[in-house]
Amino acid sequence: MFPYFWGTDGWSSPLHLENVRGPANYASLVGAMACLLKNPNLCTDTYSQRSNELEVKAITALANLIFYHTVEPWGTFTIGGTISNLYGGKIGIEKVLPGAMIHGLRGEKVAIIASEAGHYCNLTVAGWLGLGTENLHTIPTDAKLAMRLDLLEAKLDELYAQGVKVACVTATFGTTDAFGCDDLAGIRAILDDRASHYGVPVPQLHADAAVGWALCFLSDYDTAKNPLELSPLVLPLVERVKRLCTGLRHADSVTIDFHKMGRGHYPSSAFIVNRKDDLQYLARSVSDTPYFSDADVRRDPAMFTLETSRPGLGPYTVMASLNGIGLQGWQMLVARSLELAQLLKDRLDELPYCQVLNRDAVGANVCFWVLPKGRDAKAIFAALEAGTLSPEDAARTFAEVRRLFGKRERAMDPAIDARLSLTTSVGYRPHGHDLPAWKAVFFNPKTDEKIVERLLASLEETA
Ligand SMILES: *Cc1c(COP(=O)(O)O)cnc(C)c1O
Repeated sequence: MFPYFWGTDGWSSPLHLENVRGPANYASLVGAMACLLKNPNLCTDTYSQRSNELEVKAITALANLIFYHTVEPWGTFTIGGTISNLYGGKIGIEKVLPGAMIHGLRGEKVAIIASEAGHYCNLTVAGWLGLGTENLHTIPTDAKLAMRLDLLEAKLDELYAQGVKVACVTATFGTTDAFGCDDLAGIRAILDDRASHYGVPVPQLHADAAVGWALCFLSDYDTAKNPLELSPLVLPLVERVKRLCTGLRHADSVTIDFHKMGRGHYPSSAFIVNRKDDLQYLARSVSDTPYFSDADVRRDPAMFTLETSRPGLGPYTVMASLNGIGLQGWQMLVARSLELAQLLKDRLDELPYCQVLNRDAVGANVCFWVLPKGRDAKAIFAALEAGTLSPEDAARTFAEVRRLFGKRERAMDPAIDARLSLTTSVGYRPHGHDLPAWKAVFFNPKTDEKIVERLLASLEETA
């Protein structure tokens, strides 16, 4: 088998800043091995015994982190954020069109709303749930990469006026490219208000926190006492993170990917509801599942999950990672990600030929432009936002961003140069422009200031 590892070992390198993928941690590896020794199937208690109990424990631990001491959370592990988002959309459909599980959509127009910076899997979900991808409506974001609330409200009015049923608003908590977070409290207020105005069921408010959930480890961090002696650069970021995370308490359900910022093994994604009752929308009866005749509808996952056979890896890797690394360990990991991302943003701000595109998003990702030396990236970006940059100049700028990225790739020394990625659209689209950007993600705890300095030097050589 080992020859097939060729080329895939780079993720554990501290030079790997390519995407929202960290090195898998060793506690997770131990958890995964333990799971595979027993090979439980999480469909029902009979097939998994106490592994199902571990799943409930893992879900509850994550729910308390995210919803903050919630009363009645429940959920399930899935094979990825895409599927966890699908669960959110499905509950929403059942809320606005009861019985859709049995009767289908019956010719009704049913919609999902997400931000323009959200993940492309929102399209997958709309397609696979039978809504049709054209019934996914995306809302432009502001410069902070958060869905614009005025445009969300206008979209709801437009859809409700046409008699469309809005099943779900999928807010993003940490966009994949730029770590933008939607304002969940603001969205909640608008959804409640508009639904009551039109006398319709409130759409599911689902938070796609596949990337951003790990910020919640800092929810309880005491910045005044600062027990971990975090640097003065990080403390204001922690304060902002704490405010952002309170937004998640307004969500009905949430997607978390442990295999991203949790540095866990695949697959370990969780779909979590804030109130257990919401899972009833997915429930089947024992008569629908004949060979699980002894299943308990109140508890056995097979009665509400999309899958039948389900791996136990998620709960095992998550509990091993949570216990092995500990709350303080997690706080250090997340704070370190924030620190290095902020350091890079601050240093890029000093370079006239560079422009940070996600300055106001707090997280582990940095998206930026590199232009040829002599160009004033800040002025060009300001003109673009103001709408005064000509289409030719915009196209030329974007081409330069892409060309220089390729130039650096070709000149890279893999022994010292960090591996970055290029996104074709950062998510914020001033005047409808898709902004290409260089992207660096700080998930690896071994990435350090020296690597950032070398990255900056390589920009100087490239530009
Ligand atoms: C990665 C990602 C997804 C998809 O998750 P998978 O686990 O890859 O299926 C969904 N939403 C966001 C924001 C993501 O970053």
